[in-house]
Amino acid sequence: MDFKEASLRERKIYYHEEWKEKDVPGFIVERITEREFAFDHDGNGYNDRYKAFDTVGEFADFLIKNFPYAVCTSVSYYSKPKNREDWKGAELVFDIDAKDLAVKNCECKDGNVCENCLSEAKEIVLNIKDTMTDDLGIKRLFLVYSGRGYHLRVVDKEVLPLERRSEILEYVTGSKRSKDLFLSHGYPAVYRKMFILTFNKMKEKDLPFSKNITNALLSDKEIIISKLETCHADFLDIKGIGDKTKNDLLSHIEQINASLVDGKVTVDVKRILRLPSTLHSKVSMKCVEIKNIDNFDPLKHAVPKFVHERKD
Ligand SMILES: [Zn+2]
Repeated sequence: MDFKEASLRERKIYYHEEWKEKDVPGFIVERITEREFAFDHDGNGYNDRYKAFDTVGEFADFLIKNFPYAVCTSVSYYSKPKNREDWKGAELVFDIDAKDLAVKNCECKDGNVCENCLSEAKEIVLNIKDTMTDDLGIKRLFLVYSGRGYHLRVVDKEVLPLERRSEILEYVTGSKRSKDLFLSHGYPAVYRKMFILTFNKMKEKDLPFSKNITNALLSDKEIIISKLETCHADFLDIKGIGDKTKNDLLSHIEQINASLVDGKVTVDVKRILRLPSTLHSKVSMKCVEIKNIDNFDPLKHAVPKFVHERKD
């Protein structure tokens, strides 16, 4: 899979032969008249904005006529989406882009993704999803493969008007130190879970310490993780590691965890987000709503047919 850009001809084939109305998620269709639609027609950005549609059929006609490079909708609902007037609320969105992960076990550079970092992005989004449902009691949330990572979209009525989105973001990413790291439930448990998730993947290049300290931390990695899992406060008591290093390590991982999710997307309710069912033309993958995450494999379920028919 080489994630090559889709041609105009391939986009046309996709929207004429493969795209189906029924693939637009129910959570979009149910309030379609309240969403702003935005289109990128040529790969130069979303220059065709403030569109609105009364029905999915009307939207389908537009796609078949224009086969756009990219399609987004607003995460917000408006009475008059064409003017973005009379704001009604917004989804709470977590955007995990595989290309932006600070710690990953692959050699991807410059906006590229591969099977490895895509599966790491999936692991992160699943951890956040569990925290949202188990800790925060959220029920209506949807997973989307974005074409180059994952979106978690929450449409519970309770969170739509919520103004505390940056706090939720800190909570689910475990990016703020809690006073007591070892309470069995609640935020400290999320903090430990996310710390382990990131620390476990770290290699020499990911740690900002001297060679000696880095080696000490890496050779004791399994012990550190198992102590943290069993709530042992001495999890970083290692020969040669002082309080400053301990503190720096925690801060470093908190910073990385804060960057797992694109915070601007979560906090800014004016954002537009790629619409599931449409094509991510830059990498020739479909953005799809994920019905069953356990067997979801982007390389099986999000590759458009035209990619298999390519000759070169
Ligand atoms: Zn990669």
